[in-house]
Amino acid sequence: MLFENTIVGPIHSRRLGSSLGVNLLPLKHKYCSYDCIYCECGWNRESEQQEMVYATPDEIRTLLDQRLRQLTAEGASVDSFTFAGNGEPTLYPHFPEMVDLVSEMRDRYYPQAVTTLLTNATQLKHKAIFDAVLKLDNPVLKLDAGTERMRQLINRNNDMGCSWDELLSNLIAFGNKAIIQTLLFDGTSDGIPVSNIIDEEFIPYLQHLKKITPKYVMLYALDRATPEKNLRKLSVEELNVYAERIRNEGIEVKVYG
Ligand code: SF4
Repeated sequence: MLFENTIVGPIHSRRLGSSLGVNLLPLKHKYCSYDCIYCECGWNRESEQQEMVYATPDEIRTLLDQRLRQLTAEGASVDSFTFAGNGEPTLYPHFPEMVDLVSEMRDRYYPQAVTTLLTNATQLKHKAIFDAVLKLDNPVLKLDAGTERMRQLINRNNDMGCSWDELLSNLIAFGNKAIIQTLLFDGTSDGIPVSNIIDEEFIPYLQHLKKITPKYVMLYALDRATPEKNLRKLSVEELNVYAERIRNEGIEVKVYG
């Protein structure tokens, strides 16, 4: 499912409540440094032939301001201003400027709301992105594997991404400001077993979490249709088993089944 607008919602989110989406990426196309086998936006190759046209910062300012005037006039509630959409938001060429814009709009229209970013964390390798992400209330950073091999099978890091070592060192540098998001599942991809719940993955994943010392971990299950069809959705009971193993390491966890 691809977003067809720059400003989306507010929609009810399992994790964020009433969430006003800011999609900085091209409309109807996906653009990402990963190509996750569970991505709700589909495979990257389905967008490769499309022309990449971004909204400008001025256009985004106008659209956001118009929408917020409407919402406040209607008395609608907004709990979170959320950077998310058709791919990886931090690939937008003016991402740091957009963090400042959204914070300014939040302060003006919904000062009680939080600013949230859903990101795969690959672009933390750029200092300007790292510093911009630090300004957000809820920086939600993806970590789906315990080993480099499984990250590649699950997330399919591409040339725009970063190495496994860079990813881990940047998450560790983010430390207790980080909210780590992990989608747990198992299955097969192209006939190869893929799982982040087997001990060979989950134990090293726990070791990484202990080094990161995140604010908390979001564990969640598959929710919508995935491009790779042979993936199994975990039950809430199963998620809770893994959540308990994380809590036993002294790390807070929230579960979204
Ligand atoms: S990081 Fe997000 S947008 Fe990118 S491929 Fe993975 S799920 Fe899709």
